[in-house]
Amino acid sequence: MIYTQPQLPYPTDALAPAISKETVDFHYGKHEKAYIDNLNRLIQGSEFEDMELEEVIRHAKGPLFNNASQAWNHIFYFFSFSPDGGGEPEGELGDAIRAQFGSFEKFKEEFVAAGVGIFGSGWVWLSRDNDGRLFITTTSNAGNPLTDGLTPILTFDVWEHAYYLDYQNRRKDALEALWSIIDWDVVESRY
Ligand code: MN
Repeated sequence: MIYTQPQLPYPTDALAPAISKETVDFHYGKHEKAYIDNLNRLIQGSEFEDMELEEVIRHAKGPLFNNASQAWNHIFYFFSFSPDGGGEPEGELGDAIRAQFGSFEKFKEEFVAAGVGIFGSGWVWLSRDNDGRLFITTTSNAGNPLTDGLTPILTFDVWEHAYYLDYQNRRKDALEALWSIIDWDVVESRY
């Protein structure tokens, strides 16, 4: 199977000022493209060649895992955004967030604090288990909650390449800005 990079559902300048055109062009256009190119190169002739990408992530190790997971993580991340995003989640996900975290504001604080607390490169995640219970977790480097049996719902990328052009060392500001572009319709559909 050859994996292709899906075209973003918005122009690359559409997320500014939360994420600049320059960052989207580098991050999705170059970093993410490289992960997909490496995935396609590494998977050829391997036992994983005909697996769905999620299954590759669950079972592969080393460079193939790293590139498969990074390929998946970035598509998941960039497809969570919309220039018309922001606001609060409604429906069952909104109810579950308020029930578990006390309020949407408290959830946002806890999620950003977890992302700020990652040492080095990684991702902060909201995931659910099979009973619909929510978890905020972090992974380093290419990690993905799929390998822990969880279903990802939302993620913020905290690798410096995700924010350094726009925010330099201000990771907290970079993460907080993302709330204004979250497409909750997409995110709710994952719950
Ligand atoms: Mn990234």
